[in-house]
Amino acid sequence: MEVKLSLQNKKKIEDIVEVLKNKKSFLITSHINIDGDGIGSEISLYIALKKIGKKVEIINQDRIPAIFKFLPFSEVIKTVSNEEEAKNFEVGIVIDCGNLDRAGKIKKIIKKLPFIINIDHHLTNSQFGNINWIDPSFSSTGEMIYFVCDKLGNIDKNQAVCLYTSIIYDTYCFTHHLSNYTLDVAKKLINLKINPEKIAQKIFCEKSIQSVILFKLALETLKFNKKKKVCSMKVTKEMFKRAKAKEEHTEGFVEFLISIKGVEVGVLFKEKDKGVKVSMRSKGNIDVESIAQRYNGGGHREAAGCFLENKGIEEVEAIIMKELQWMEF
Ligand code: 5GP
Ligand code: MN
Repeated sequence: MEVKLSLQNKKKIEDIVEVLKNKKSFLITSHINIDGDGIGSEISLYIALKKIGKKVEIINQDRIPAIFKFLPFSEVIKTVSNEEEAKNFEVGIVIDCGNLDRAGKIKKIIKKLPFIINIDHHLTNSQFGNINWIDPSFSSTGEMIYFVCDKLGNIDKNQAVCLYTSIIYDTYCFTHHLSNYTLDVAKKLINLKINPEKIAQKIFCEKSIQSVILFKLALETLKFNKKKKVCSMKVTKEMFKRAKAKEEHTEGFVEFLISIKGVEVGVLFKEKDKGVKVSMRSKGNIDVESIAQRYNGGGHREAAGCFLENKGIEEVEAIIMKELQWMEF
């Protein structure tokens, strides 16, 4: 079974692979609050580069959530952010970031590097790289990295586990944003003798007690609009404290909202020290990315987010709900 890419995509992959083959040292990073797509992509590319004898490191702003620690090589991912690190690398590979600010503290290091490769599948991307491979039709950056790794050499089982994780994480187990290639790529990864059921269970069926307690508290704030097409929920700092939970323990909350029959848009508000993080999900009829973009955020039509600084959670709730008010009619 041959997976056919467009000529444009093939050209981008060739350009990227040429740099990967010709340069010696690479720094791989992804976005703040690193997620399954970013981690899977990073590790798979790390392994591919190591196999061809390159110097490579993965450095992110934030630590990886505990649920991804089962991934092979997850222990190599670092979180240091000293600008001095820049002198150690020739090329920065930025994955799954619509703009460089999304790399958080790692932006400072990346900006000092002589060459940047930007690989992303978000609708909006500021094209900050020397090579920019941006295609929102892909399910995940993992799916894009699959083609890069495939071109570089044989994909091994460890890489397959990571890439499969990227794909099922970003599609929420094949429930949205599938590309023309997703199922063929998944099949190719499964053929490498990975255990797809075990990977899905690790990601979606191993909720921690903190997460469940936090969810119980958050459910008390569940709200619907009049037509029950919009559903929202809040997680306050007080709730995080009471549940002894962190941001990573909200994994799956907003997906729960969108899993309700008849609900078109789910919105989760998370109170943080410097403002409120908004996560939105849509069944596809409503474009939540356009709302996120108005508040300096981004994402995809069906999954988007933004951060409203220096505002209280009630205020942010009112602002975002106003954006969705037209759905009342
Ligand atoms: P989540 O709500 O799970 O944090 O993110 C959903 C999607 O929106 C992801 O693709 C994520 O990368 C993107 N996203 C979330 N927050 C932001 C943001 O503040 N800025 C941008 N550009 N994208 C975001
Ligand atoms: Mn992604």
